[in-house]
Amino acid sequence: MEPVVTQPTSFWQSLRTKYVLTYLVIIAAVLVLLNTYPVLVSQDMVFKSKQTSLQSQASVVASALAGPEGLNREGVGRVMEVLGDTGLSRVMVTDPSGVVLYDTSPASGSVGRYALLYEVAQALQGRDEFCSDYTAGAFHSRAAIPVTYRGMTLGAVYVDEYDAEQGQLLVGIQQTLWTISLVIAVVATTLSLIFSQALTRRLGQLLRAIRTVREGEYSHRVRMRGKDELSRLAGEFNALTDRLQTTEEVRRRFVSDASHELKTPLSSIRLLTDSILQNDSIDPETVQEFVGDIGDEAARLQRITEHLLTLTRLDAAAPVTAEPVEVAGVAQRVEHMLEPLARAAEVQLRLDVPEGLMVRITRDDLYQILFNLVENGIKYNLPGGRVELYAQDWGGKVVIMVEDTGVGIPEEDIDKVFDRFYRVDKARSRAAGGTGLGLSIVQDTARRHGGDVTVQRRTPEGSRFVVSFPLCGEGGRT
Ligand code: ADP
Repeated sequence: MEPVVTQPTSFWQSLRTKYVLTYLVIIAAVLVLLNTYPVLVSQDMVFKSKQTSLQSQASVVASALAGPEGLNREGVGRVMEVLGDTGLSRVMVTDPSGVVLYDTSPASGSVGRYALLYEVAQALQGRDEFCSDYTAGAFHSRAAIPVTYRGMTLGAVYVDEYDAEQGQLLVGIQQTLWTISLVIAVVATTLSLIFSQALTRRLGQLLRAIRTVREGEYSHRVRMRGKDELSRLAGEFNALTDRLQTTEEVRRRFVSDASHELKTPLSSIRLLTDSILQNDSIDPETVQEFVGDIGDEAARLQRITEHLLTLTRLDAAAPVTAEPVEVAGVAQRVEHMLEPLARAAEVQLRLDVPEGLMVRITRDDLYQILFNLVENGIKYNLPGGRVELYAQDWGGKVVIMVEDTGVGIPEEDIDKVFDRFYRVDKARSRAAGGTGLGLSIVQDTARRHGGDVTVQRRTPEGSRFVVSFPLCGEGGRT
């Protein structure tokens, strides 16, 4: 057998790495989403509310300023005084050319100068303008709208708000999300490491068991707790190993028994040839006798190898092309073939098989079964004895019985007679040309066609072999 070389799994190929990495990638994606989406949505909401509030405040100022006399510094100052504190960071009013008339931020010194602001320029062209940004934890929003009177642009109102309070709220949310994310990341990573460790440990246990069994230690079993897929896999592996162990034991015993059986006739042949070759003064009759014995041993070897080949063919379980076969015809052929043997052994052969009883099998296999059973009935019989073959359709089965009035099988051997090479009386079997394989062949052949064979002791003497097959539907008697 080719030795299987198992390379250690590299870090990147290992199931554990793949498992942990997949877990981490999914968690990272979820956390990124958790940290960005709510913040972006909140920012957007704040921007929208700022736009509404700032533009409406600018509108209030603009409508207070709008009038037929236009805008001038004093007039704007008065109106702004009446409006009081707007709560805004800055309010600026310009004339139509963009020159600042009023500014709540005196530090800028902008009054009397051009307001060089994009928003103001847009407002002077008649457009409402708003922009807001969120930087350094605060919202900075600007809005500008035109001051119009009867379709005339009198100037622009620019308002500016710096809101650190809402900004801090958002920073707070962001920090909370970060903390939650960190906890989730740590817990998820730890859990994935623990699970992957447990998974790879159990897989490693299975792998080691497979390797041990592969190296020939068939008694090794995996012990795995739990009821998950891996435990089921371990159970299946153990069942498979059980089967492998049994098969291996049967194979070993068979090979050793077969070698032993082949060795005996070979030793006899060797002994007989040595006797002829080493003895110069051996007389021709003795040579004749020895050569005859050699021929007998060779015939025995031939029988054993033929039986072994039959068993090997049955073990290989090649697909069979079974067909309905009539039992009566095959039984008559067996009777015809074994009649001379029965006559020589002074045993009476009797058949009672109804016409038309069919079994789904091959003709050769049914012949082999009946031949072996009837031949045994004759071989292990006594002069004046009987062998009878019955067949009948019985309780949904085809039952074939071969009964004899022979020497019988002792109670303690009855379970073993179907074992390969098992013989109750070795000397008798040998004298009758037996190989100890006939009944194994009968059993394997019957089972191969869905049937079975059992043996019973008959009282007062003899044995009864019962072969049963499922009823053959098409062409059968049913
Ligand atoms: P063998 O070639 O020795 O006959 P089998 O497998 O056919 O081998 O039978 C196994 C053993 O079972 C025989 O050696 C014999 O001792 C016993 N046996 C089989 N059939 C009978 C029978 N009809 N009556 C008594 N003993 C039997």
